[in-house]
Amino acid sequence: MYVQTWVPWVLCLDRPPPTTQFTATPARRVRSRFTMNETHDLHVLHGDDGNGPTVTLAEYRELVARLAKFAHAYYVLDAPLVTDDAYDRLYRSVEAVEARNPAWVVPDSPTRRVGGPPLAGFRKARHPAPLLSLANVFDSDGLVAFDRRIGVAGPDPEIPRYTVEPKLDGLTLALLYADGRLVRAATRGDGEIGEEVTPQATTIRTIPLTLSMGVNGGQGVPRFLMIRGEVTLPLDAFARLNEARDAAGEANYQNPRNAAAGSVRQLDPRITASRALRFTAYTATVLTLDEGGGALPLDQLAFEADAADLVASDPIDQDVVTRVFDRLRPLGVASGPFATHWEALLAMRDWGFRTNPHNRQCVGLEEAVAVLADLQELRATWDEETDGLVVKVNDLATQERLGSVAKDPRWAVAYKVAVSEVVVTRLLDIAVQIGRTGAVTPLAVLEPVRLGGVTVSSATLHNDDQVRALDLRIGDWVRVQRAGGVIPAILGVDLDGSRRDGQETEWAFPTACPACDGPIARDGDEAVARCTNASCPAQRSARVRHFAGRSAVDIAGLGGNWIDRLIASGLITSAADLYHLTLPDLLAIDGQGMGEILARKLCDAIDRTRRQTSLARFLFGLGIRHVGSETAELVAPLVGSLDALCDRLRTDRDDFLGSLGAQMLETKGVGPVVAQSVNDALSNPAMLELLERFSAGGMSPVPPAQSPKTAEDGPLSGKTFVLTGAMSEPRESIAALVVAAGGKVSDSVSGATSFVVAGEKPGSSKIKGAAKHSVTVINEEALRSML
Ligand SMILES: [Zn+2]
Repeated sequence: MYVQTWVPWVLCLDRPPPTTQFTATPARRVRSRFTMNETHDLHVLHGDDGNGPTVTLAEYRELVARLAKFAHAYYVLDAPLVTDDAYDRLYRSVEAVEARNPAWVVPDSPTRRVGGPPLAGFRKARHPAPLLSLANVFDSDGLVAFDRRIGVAGPDPEIPRYTVEPKLDGLTLALLYADGRLVRAATRGDGEIGEEVTPQATTIRTIPLTLSMGVNGGQGVPRFLMIRGEVTLPLDAFARLNEARDAAGEANYQNPRNAAAGSVRQLDPRITASRALRFTAYTATVLTLDEGGGALPLDQLAFEADAADLVASDPIDQDVVTRVFDRLRPLGVASGPFATHWEALLAMRDWGFRTNPHNRQCVGLEEAVAVLADLQELRATWDEETDGLVVKVNDLATQERLGSVAKDPRWAVAYKVAVSEVVVTRLLDIAVQIGRTGAVTPLAVLEPVRLGGVTVSSATLHNDDQVRALDLRIGDWVRVQRAGGVIPAILGVDLDGSRRDGQETEWAFPTACPACDGPIARDGDEAVARCTNASCPAQRSARVRHFAGRSAVDIAGLGGNWIDRLIASGLITSAADLYHLTLPDLLAIDGQGMGEILARKLCDAIDRTRRQTSLARFLFGLGIRHVGSETAELVAPLVGSLDALCDRLRTDRDDFLGSLGAQMLETKGVGPVVAQSVNDALSNPAMLELLERFSAGGMSPVPPAQSPKTAEDGPLSGKTFVLTGAMSEPRESIAALVVAAGGKVSDSVSGATSFVVAGEKPGSSKIKGAAKHSVTVINEEALRSML
């Protein structure tokens, strides 16, 4: 009906319009649930003459509006209006029109959600209002105390006192909108300053690029707005992402929260675009011009020019965003558009955001407690992870009156999962893991079960004794507990084994290493069983994994699967061999070789670590017993460099180890156990061989910095400066001058600040901060006179 009147040729179902080289395809939409009611809009149409139809600008804009509507229905409302096929065709049509008419492309076209070119780095972004954290309560007593602190509720007893909302476990983003247009997205950071991730955020389809002006008689869109919400990766998307990473030999993400954070904090927005991220909005802050300090008319004009620029420019200049939003502050509730938090939630939905469908409002404490219990039960069925529930005071005037203490608002608490939550699931198997020292540890393989808002599929069993003590049999129903977010533990067999049906099988600790078939022995003094075969591939793999891991040398893209295959192919036996691998080696790994792109990336990643690894990380990566990353930092200065270490071990080993041992014992934080362990490791000739192989492969760890040579007695020593506003040189250059003169530069004003240096158009928050902390404000000239 609607569609036919404006663009009769575009949806030619059996022949989509020619597409160009656009690489943009809509993210894989897995589910294909759709309602039929609007599909009849998309009748087979006609009129494509083969040369590409002509279409007017107005028609193009209608197409974009329609595509945006379908995308909103699909991604935000979870209620698709058309089939995936129909959506894809419309998408390609818009792409084709845009390819022919590049000048028409509107910034909020859904085709723009594919991510731009990679960035060099993240820039810092100051939030126009601090993002507070929440105090936690763990039981209903905590809630009663909270309720008592709130005291009298809002003026209207008819207004429900609380809202209860799931606390999503993801990455918090603050989005800034000017006249309904998304102009900046930033991570929470420390609550005051985060990282700017606008190009990444625009690829997330549940983040509106422009706000809908409101439906259902809802609120119009305020001129300046900050929206807070959480980016999550739904569980099915998380599982698919890890499968894909497995297939590519990349390390798995540990949990959906890490995956969501890792996906947003990608310098290449195209990677963000490829992940099915979801944004759920939960706080709207209306911002207004801060007139404090009596803005001059000229200032006012400059502000309006900047604000107009934000609406019109493409791409958006983040410096302009900063200039505009630095002058804004939250609008008081009395002059704001909402009386309650619930109204703000409804308005956000009208503007086009996803809000959590499980949000509830509650008349009082009693109902809130009941709702918490309900939602607690439901959490296990949700398709994204939560780490609690949030109770907020609904009445905004009351929120404002209560204010905040330090970084916690007094009008909201997070109700955390009781740590004692226990679930029952099936023990599918007991696997064993071989550690890098050969330690053999049993690992319970569980039927996946939701526990405390997350899915668990394995649990540690420390050793054979524990398996016996719990009398575990494969197939048992077991009680599992996750305490405080650590790896889950098995408490015991459910109902003392009365649910057993005779199909369960006993498990015996292996007598031979499952990886190498070598003998397993127990150390005399400890209950740990070890594979004693020094060339056990599982131990080798664990050692290389440790070396290449994030906290050690951090070789990007070298996942456990590839390490196993490199070892199985005989290409490496140690981490040092990584530095002798060639591209042809990787392409020819037994079985299916590594793809060329991946292989090149890995070679580059290895090469980077040759000169960018600190000696401490390198030492930690060697996996010497008792040498953790902190101890490695202490030992590194005593060792000096890899070459020095090799030289000394080769030429005068005993003298060297003697003096190293003495130095270690003199070092605070290094005890005799560590010293002995280092001595044992370094006196082993195999270690020298390994170190020399690293060295021959070009590994050259960066020696620890000598005691920093800052201008300790420079003219600015002991003073801290905060720079704000435009100066005669970029602020970074001014900051460098301050540092060179022995001073420090900080981003935010505090009691520790000595001076605020204000250039043109200083940030109002910094000037206010200076007043609050009685810090002297000086200009650039005064700063230069101090140098
Ligand atoms: Zn073994």
